[in-house]
Amino acid sequence: MEFLDKLLGIDPNYIVIGLIALFFSLEQIMKSPFNFQKRINHLFQNLLFQIILVILNIFFVTFQIFSIEWLNSNHIGLLYLVELPLWAKLFISVALYDVTAYWVHRGTHAIPLLWRFHRVHHSDTTMDSSTVFRFHPLELILVFGIGNIVTAALFGTDVLSMALYYFFLYVFFFFEHANLKYPKWLNSTLGLIFVMPDHHRVHHQQDQFYTDSNYADIFIIWDRIFGTFKMMPVEQMKYGLVEFEEDKKQTFLYLIKSPFINIKRITSNKTDENKAE
Ligand SMILES: [Zn+2]
Ligand SMILES: [Zn+2]
Repeated sequence: MEFLDKLLGIDPNYIVIGLIALFFSLEQIMKSPFNFQKRINHLFQNLLFQIILVILNIFFVTFQIFSIEWLNSNHIGLLYLVELPLWAKLFISVALYDVTAYWVHRGTHAIPLLWRFHRVHHSDTTMDSSTVFRFHPLELILVFGIGNIVTAALFGTDVLSMALYYFFLYVFFFFEHANLKYPKWLNSTLGLIFVMPDHHRVHHQQDQFYTDSNYADIFIIWDRIFGTFKMMPVEQMKYGLVEFEEDKKQTFLYLIKSPFINIKRITSNKTDENKAE
């Protein structure tokens, strides 16, 4: 418990800075499955999203914590109906935040208004560790942020478990997005339960058949249970969205405005044998 207090006592911004420094450096020195150029400019454009998010979060995180603590103080949510040891409550709560995020994420793909914001994350043609930052801040705050409050209202999860969830979420996000060569055996071992980089890479494919799969962030079991799990060979992968391929559409300024621009989704209708699940 003391360790947990210490861990969660660290400013989350320092954890994020540490993770991007670590993974970006590893991508520079280790072997990568994809050879991307202009990495510094790409990092800079993606960092701008994080800077805006940190500023907006000064207000929003306060609102989120206030809302969840109010729900908890009124004992709202299913977890208040059962007595559990702290470790079990924390584990279940992290899983509940994750499964709600799975459904919210599916919603961002299925609902056209939400896709306008979510496609910013999918637009990245050169996915690497800094793609973790490429989310429209309004999506993170208004869609996923509200999703966390809904989780607390339904299940009675608290702020401590949300902080723990975000810690694991960011570790997994950097692990999943990094352009690093990971051993294949991860997929058939840890990958039975947790999201592995090869799983999330499928989610970033141009082809919508694959984009609409592997929605989970931490536990891949949600995709396996709810029938959205797909795999494809890394050698056949192509990241991004056809409608965002031009260089000028890869800039922070264009992307931040893009939810308010009518952009037709271009989907390919490949019918190769890989799609036979
Ligand atoms: Zn997505
Ligand atoms: Zn992603």
